[in-house]
Amino acid sequence: MNPVEITNHYIRQASELMGLGSRVELLLLSAEAEHHVSVPIELDNGDVAVFSGYRIQHNSARGPMKGGLRFHPSVDADDVRALASLMTWKTAVVNIPYGGAKGGVACDPATLSAGELERLTRKFTQRIGSEIGPQRDIPAPDVNTNAQVMAWIMDEYSRMHGYSPAVVTGKPLELQGSAGREAATGRGVVHVVEQALADAGRSIDGATIAVQGFGNVGAHVALLAHRLGARIVAVSDASGGVRHPDGLDVPRLFTEFAVPRRDLAGYEDDGVRALSQEELLTEDVDVLVPAALGGVLDEQVAKDLRARMVVEAANGPTVPEADALLADRGIPVLPDILANAGGVTVSYFEWAQNIQSMRWTEDDVNRRLAQVMLDSYRTVRGLVEQRKLTWRTAAYVVGLGRVAKATVLRGV
Ligand code: NAD
Repeated sequence: MNPVEITNHYIRQASELMGLGSRVELLLLSAEAEHHVSVPIELDNGDVAVFSGYRIQHNSARGPMKGGLRFHPSVDADDVRALASLMTWKTAVVNIPYGGAKGGVACDPATLSAGELERLTRKFTQRIGSEIGPQRDIPAPDVNTNAQVMAWIMDEYSRMHGYSPAVVTGKPLELQGSAGREAATGRGVVHVVEQALADAGRSIDGATIAVQGFGNVGAHVALLAHRLGARIVAVSDASGGVRHPDGLDVPRLFTEFAVPRRDLAGYEDDGVRALSQEELLTEDVDVLVPAALGGVLDEQVAKDLRARMVVEAANGPTVPEADALLADRGIPVLPDILANAGGVTVSYFEWAQNIQSMRWTEDDVNRRLAQVMLDSYRTVRGLVEQRKLTWRTAAYVVGLGRVAKATVLRGV
């Protein structure tokens, strides 16, 4: 199955269970608009390069559409379609007044200079500048994009439409960004890990965790869980992984490898040894947190997996065959549309602050985030317990229910 078939499989599964019917199901499966643009830029050496850019707007029944922007060589229309749909269900699961969208440019940022990256971002913004907007579609950071990229989008959009900080979230603090946004996705994941462990009769203090991906999300998961007493025994990035059975020195890893970004393969410390991605995914730990790319938990990994639970920080890390196998094995998988919703939740807080020209404190943001994550977790858990559903199906039932109601109320 490709990424769209995977997401649609989960939607149909929940829709059938809820008896939504083919009319509503068809509306929920279709994207409202798909923008595919070419993004030509002049390279530093004087050559011209043309990249493919996408903004796919899945559903706006519950509000303006919201979703990240990804720069990665593997970006294609199917990938972005699936991610846009996930955003619709995610914003509904945490009950914030948004729909879902996603964007991407097929490029390898590691091969581009800062100037080339800026020209690419500005040109892409010009090409989709009439399709996004504070009440229409609001991009945010995702894989290989960050606060600086959001600043360029905000500036370029504001040149076209007048000063508009609310057109993107995840901006630098100096440009109306929100306190707490950078850590928000990781913080939300850790709230879910903490709750799920507590429900299993365990404390996060002393629990063992392996994290795949040491970017914005993975590094914050590791750091915040470490601060709560968890032992982070393995982490990896695209360059490789490192392991320490007694727990890695996460604060050191964070300062030296997350900010600024450096390859983990170069990390050395007493008792630390290298490990492969396969070894990381099958480590004997209490919690496995995939926080890199989609599709990494396949059938083979699901057979060999030794973690007691999986908490999906990445979008779409588990393929359906693996999902079914893990359910059979009794290993709970806390799904992306619940577990990593902390980022979009604080993006909503940032947008709300921008629209009101207000500024909240970091404590205020973190307190509200904790409440949203806890409420959403409990709502989904209610269905897991009452109807004996998997966490993923239960989360889709919550999300689909809210979007279907809004869709029916608004009319076709
Ligand atoms: P990022 O670019 O900051 O980091 C990605 C990390 O994954 C890097 O450490 C990279 O080296 C690593 N990686 C890439 N390929 C890998 C591989 N094959 N094996 C192991 N590691 C690999 O991106 P991010 O913002 O941290 O996003 C990570 C995931 O979380 C993505 O799936 C994204 O869609 C999802 N997500 C991000 C946010 C957010 O707020 N940034 C919100 C919700 C979900």
